[in-house]
Amino acid sequence: MQRRIFFSIFIGSLSLLLLANAFLLFSLESFFQKESLEDLKNQSKSLIEQLPQDLTQLESLVKPLQDSHYRISIIDKNGNVLYDSFSKVLENHSSREEIQNALLNGGATSVRYSNTLGAKTLYYAVFLKEREIVLRVAKEQKYVKALFFKLLPFFFVESFLALLLCFFLAKVLAKAILKPILKANLEDLKKDSLYFELHSFVKKIKSQNKIIKTQLKHLRQKQQEMLLLAEHMSDGLILLNQHGDILSTNKSVNKYFKNLSSCTIIYELKESHFLKILLNLLRDFKKHKQEESKTLQMQLCNFECEVIFTPIFVKNKCKGMVVIVRDITQTKLAQNLRKEFSANVTHELKTPLTSILASSEMLKNNLVKKEDIPQFIDKILAESTRLLVMIDEILKLSFFDEGGAEYLQKQKISLKSNVLKVVKHLKMIATQYEVEILLDLQEGYILGEKSLVENLIFNLVDNAIKYNKKGGFIRVSLHNLGEKIRLSIQDSGIGIPEHLHQRIFERFFCVDKSRSKQLGGTGLGLSIVKSAVAYHQAYLELKSEVGKGSEFILEFNKIA
Ligand code: ADP
Repeated sequence: MQRRIFFSIFIGSLSLLLLANAFLLFSLESFFQKESLEDLKNQSKSLIEQLPQDLTQLESLVKPLQDSHYRISIIDKNGNVLYDSFSKVLENHSSREEIQNALLNGGATSVRYSNTLGAKTLYYAVFLKEREIVLRVAKEQKYVKALFFKLLPFFFVESFLALLLCFFLAKVLAKAILKPILKANLEDLKKDSLYFELHSFVKKIKSQNKIIKTQLKHLRQKQQEMLLLAEHMSDGLILLNQHGDILSTNKSVNKYFKNLSSCTIIYELKESHFLKILLNLLRDFKKHKQEESKTLQMQLCNFECEVIFTPIFVKNKCKGMVVIVRDITQTKLAQNLRKEFSANVTHELKTPLTSILASSEMLKNNLVKKEDIPQFIDKILAESTRLLVMIDEILKLSFFDEGGAEYLQKQKISLKSNVLKVVKHLKMIATQYEVEILLDLQEGYILGEKSLVENLIFNLVDNAIKYNKKGGFIRVSLHNLGEKIRLSIQDSGIGIPEHLHQRIFERFFCVDKSRSKQLGGTGLGLSIVKSAVAYHQAYLELKSEVGKGSEFILEFNKIA
């Protein structure tokens, strides 16, 4: 802006200066022309007074004038040149403007180019009626040219000085004009701090400032929200531009890449497999070979991941990419478990069914000795019962797997009464196994699902009986521990090897398959216990030693 103002002032002043000079020259020219014409008139007047009758004697009269560069001509009324101080032979002058006007009006002037003199010339012609001739006095107009050349050095100096003056003036003025504008605080503009002419502009800036401030605040808020969102996302996030520069990442993404936090460009990434895929996709997005998000599964830092690559298109051009990395290790594990579970279910259901089928066929075809028939029927009964128990347990586990537990209604439950109910139910079996059940129960309430809690206690006490020794004991205790209530089911049974403490909670896992089968076990009881414990957000611990016995400890959140 300063340059613009400077040039405007500079060029303006310079043009003015040139115009003034031109006007001066023009004024001088017309002044001198007027003066010269007057001089011609005077010269002609004095010539008329002395004009001899015989024009041949004119020479001596004209001589001094001729020396002073005056041209004297005598023309008759028909335009024939009777005498000319510059040329002997001249064409007819009747067409000359000054001659025509002199014949008409008695006297006339004209300014035109003279072929005889070869220059711009001033003429004054006067008609002498009594002698019927026209006397014309002429002189070359030299003033402007002469003046111009005379004044040229002065013009140069003057122009140079004026140029300098204009330059400094323009510079100082431009600076002075802009000073208040440059000094103005745009954040807090006051009307009187700027030129009056700019008041409406100041007003506009103020209102624009207000709008920008609110929009900026809004944008910052949105940005903050987005940052917070990205930061708290469990999925990893990488934002890239089309050149592969990393524009943004969140905290979660660092767990999938070794050196991402120190990278500014994606090419520096150490995960070559991931990088290769990403660069190929980026290239395809840019070439429009691929315009939709691409989801791939891959392993990153020992995590099974699902990676979603989404291009960012602005005006039909790929401007970058959003990469979302999701940890699906648990989902994959669950998937595998489900697959394994389905395979196990088929196998485990088939075994008792085959046995039932074989026994029934033998009975039907009379292939069993009479005395062995009760034994076969007992076997069919036992396998059928086991099959029923297994189907019931599979259904319970599927219920948990499908998320059915979410829809169960929790209520206030007395753990003591549930324990008593289960113990009452299992008393007879305990007597059969010659196992004594000891109780040490404090009253305590929890928020839970009645049938699940009952099933959980049943499975643990049932196992404690089944895997006990003859003459052994079971101690079921309930103790209040501040905000918790602890349920312990301790037995003096066969115990579980330490390396299998985790595995016994797996589906269909039995430490001794044939023993479990004999006892009607399915290997699913403890899996149901584990799911029920998780549903109640309880804590489960196993203490066990082979040959000495086991203790299953559960801690629930107590309610009043
Ligand atoms: P099962 O129907 O076979 O009892 P569970 O899931 O209830 O299936 O138990 C899994 C395995 O854990 C059992 O087969 C058994 O080997 C072992 N087990 C469970 N409870 C006890 C216990 N109290 N004492 C010793 N071993 C046990």
